[in-house]
Amino acid sequence: MCPECRSANADWQPVTGRGEVYTYTVVNRPIAAGQPLPTVIAVIALEGSGGARMISNLVGVDPAAVEIGMPVELVWRT
Ligand SMILES: [Zn+2]
Repeated sequence: MCPECRSANADWQPVTGRGEVYTYTVVNRPIAAGQPLPTVIAVIALEGSGGARMISNLVGVDPAAVEIGMPVELVWRT
């Protein structure tokens, strides 16, 4: 959805997999079985996307070190 006019007229476009933390929260209570705690849930502003954002958890970083504007990169964990 367009954050400016709320239009749903959108399509898929490739992105780089890099972005920056737009906002985040640190979760200290279990969300699901086996979920490591604390977990950082963040809204990521995607690089080169024209303003698209996505929600993800952050891995490989101390939750106390997370900052708005921090650069992040997509990793796949299976
Ligand atoms: Zn719009």
